[in-house]
Amino acid sequence: MQIKKIEAFPLEYLESNDNFSTRYVVVVRAEASDGTVGWGECIALFREAAASVTALIRHGLADEVTGRDAYETQACWEAMRDRAWWYGNVGGIAAFAISAIDMALWDLKGKLTKQTLSQMLGGALTDRLPACASSHPKASTVDGMAEELAGHIAAGYQLVKVGFGKKGEANLGVDEDRDVAFVRTVRAAIGEKAGFIVDVGAKCRWDIPRAVSTARKMAQYNLTWIEDPFHPDNLDAYQHLRAAVPEMRVAFGERFFNLHDYKRLLDARAADVILVDPGRAEGVTGMSRIIQLAAQYNVALDAHSWSSAINTAASVHLSLCAPRRTIFELKPTPSSMHHELVRNPVAQVDGWISAPEGYGIGADVIEETVHRHTVVF
Ligand SMILES: [Mg+2]
Repeated sequence: MQIKKIEAFPLEYLESNDNFSTRYVVVVRAEASDGTVGWGECIALFREAAASVTALIRHGLADEVTGRDAYETQACWEAMRDRAWWYGNVGGIAAFAISAIDMALWDLKGKLTKQTLSQMLGGALTDRLPACASSHPKASTVDGMAEELAGHIAAGYQLVKVGFGKKGEANLGVDEDRDVAFVRTVRAAIGEKAGFIVDVGAKCRWDIPRAVSTARKMAQYNLTWIEDPFHPDNLDAYQHLRAAVPEMRVAFGERFFNLHDYKRLLDARAADVILVDPGRAEGVTGMSRIIQLAAQYNVALDAHSWSSAINTAASVHLSLCAPRRTIFELKPTPSSMHHELVRNPVAQVDGWISAPEGYGIGADVIEETVHRHTVVF
């Protein structure tokens, strides 16, 4: 069975979970010679990145895989990587483009062979993961945010994750005393059993003394982990934090693009938990290799997945197949890229996340929504 056509659709949308900011993803539609269709996505985020990814696919990578055998996902992935060496070979835009095509090809292969992505990866190791509400709080006060987060737990989520330094009026990550008071207040509001993650993130990026001091203070409120307090290149800072505050788990990695990045992180013993996004780290093929490598290092994995329902569906399957899996995150507020893009968006049920029904990645894509959001470049 041949791959007949690869099409790229750059989509623009307003993300209700990110203060209604304008975001972009690039969706790929892969069609086999018998008319079967598979879908993939990359989290390009910015307009110029989406335009660039679209150009790489339309004017280069699509030609690289069109006409090849639709069952040979690995051969397609290697061919795309060879060509992408000329784009820089260090991730970035090329990794986004490879991710979207590779994910679509796995979806296509699953539909052609009537297997789920989990089955193609060797089988899920569990059928469900604890659901985490991955949130950018909207309220401006500590009490208001605590009430908001307690609402997610009341709705069934087993954990909440809070992004610091985000858009809006939350103003988290700026003042240590307020940040610690926030964690104390949230812990009281969500109860002792609920999981609770603080994601410091790109806009804050603390120095080592701030991170060590804050992590020590927050540790008494039993955080599940603290995430991304430093730039991802500062592996030594992560090592320092882990050594200084051994009672606090440290997570990062969502900004890495490929197996070599993660090998560097794992060799440095810089994290207790790594985050991986199949819409960034070279698709299903790339992320499945990272999952196996992390398991060798006995490091747990959390899928970053914070873009479209296509990425989410693929991420659930990959996570269920990970020997050292953790939780699964969902955006708690209804979002067009999640709830209108597919007929069967992944949702938490009684605090748990399972894979969507259906072959391939299982996302039942509504093409009309794809066309409605497509930007002309
Ligand atoms: Mg994060």
